Amino acid sequence: MIIGGGFAGIAAAHALKRSNVDILLLDRRNHHIFQPLLYQVATAVLAPSEIAAPFRQLEAKQKNLSVLLAEVKAINPAARAVEVICPGVGSRKVEYDFLVVATGMRPSYFGHDEFARFAPGLKTLNDAETIRTKILSAFELAESTDDEKERARQMTFVLVGAGPTGVELAASIAQLVSVTLRKNFRNIDPAESRIVLLDGGARVLSTFAESLSKKVARRLDKLGVEVLTGVKVERVDDQGVIAAGERIPSATVLWTAGVAASPVIKMLGTTMDRAGRALVGPFLHIPEAPEVFVAGDAAAITQDGHPVPGVAQAAIQQGRFVGRLIAHRAKGRKDGRPFRYRNKGNMAVVGKNFAVLEVGWLRTGGFLTWLVWAALHVLALPQLQNRFRVQTQWFWSYLTGQRSSRLISEAPRPPESR
Ligand SMILES: Cc1cc2nc3c(=O)[nH]c(=O)nc-3n(C[C@H](O)[C@H](O)[C@H](O)COP(=O)(O)OP(=O)(O)OC[C@H]3O[C@@H](n4cnc5c(N)ncnc54)[C@H](O)[C@@H]3O)c2cc1C
Repeated sequence: MIIGGGFAGIAAAHALKRSNVDILLLDRRNHHIFQPLLYQVATAVLAPSEIAAPFRQLEAKQKNLSVLLAEVKAINPAARAVEVICPGVGSRKVEYDFLVVATGMRPSYFGHDEFARFAPGLKTLNDAETIRTKILSAFELAESTDDEKERARQMTFVLVGAGPTGVELAASIAQLVSVTLRKNFRNIDPAESRIVLLDGGARVLSTFAESLSKKVARRLDKLGVEVLTGVKVERVDDQGVIAAGERIPSATVLWTAGVAASPVIKMLGTTMDRAGRALVGPFLHIPEAPEVFVAGDAAAITQDGHPVPGVAQAAIQQGRFVGRLIAHRAKGRKDGRPFRYRNKGNMAVVGKNFAVLEVGWLRTGGFLTWLVWAALHVLALPQLQNRFRVQTQWFWSYLTGQRSSRLISEAPRPPESR
């Protein structure tokens, strides 16, 4: 049984394709999401279906795989059973011989869950659509109000957390306001919007080399993004944020800061780190049960004294490793070598024509890196049709500056009409 059809879960299932095992892939959603491009759905470049693939299509391609749309409620490693809730059907108990838990992470508000109501995180297609609606609606409200203060509040976008997601989102909003929405309104100029990127740390992209952080900060400045580092957010409410004692009025606050492991890990009754990830051994199983593996973001692994990063490549490599190991065991063979993460490099994109790359000793950024970023992301998308569609959208957007997914599915209504 594989719980979670993200990068790790899908890689584990693929690695078991030719094995004499029956696989049950269980997920609370019916689709795999290519998370690295979620920010483009949130900023109207791409449509949700262009970066996702239904699990049922995988089932059609892999004979030993079945899919179950269900949410995990409890795991009993001693009985080798999982209790799930299937929507519209109810609770069910499912037994397993091997279990792979690959449930990933969720946004963490550092003990301030009350911020979540006002500052959505970006993890699912729903989140991306919520953010897109918030951003596009802000301009509609700014256009229709006569109140100058309210107009400025609607046209201020605050992003909390200057990691890759915060940086990519901020740069994409900057280009939306300065290119795509230009001349689209009569009473406002979207280019006058304020985009503020806050971070408690000393620099943007703190997991990258300092030289790349500086490049990215300069690029953001050029795009008109205000970067405020070393700033702690004290409050988020319906009027905006209070950071370092100062209020920034904003109708759109986005949470791109911390993450915590999915609560499913707690159900395993194993040791966890501070972010709630399972502390697995070198073969990626929990110490209490050698047939229970944790792979991807939900696993805490240290290699050569450094934590293995929570990135797609690490999740894919772990999922593949676990799949192969199970295939070995199913044949009655002993476990081979322990897991080793091969770092293929880190990338972040900062708007049109600019990305940074760090791999081994190489640290670079600019237009060529952006081309490499675009090619790699298109190739990595699930399904051929997504690759064609994304390329077409990007090409059109590159030439015209237009974005094709600017629909507001439900316009914001005044409180009295709700
Ligand atoms: C916005 C964003 C941008 C990113 N950009 C990059 C990038 O540019 N490059 C990069 O390398 N990495 C990037 N990452 C990180 C990368 O996406 C993750 O490292 C990767 O997705 C982890 O894979 P995973 O399989 O562990 O978890 P996920 O891909 O998160 O998959 C977890 C799966 O588990 C399912 N699930 C969770 N709980 C339950 C439950 N209770 N019951 C049933 N199913 C459940 C979920 O529905 C989901 O399908 C980004 C992440 C985000 C959020």
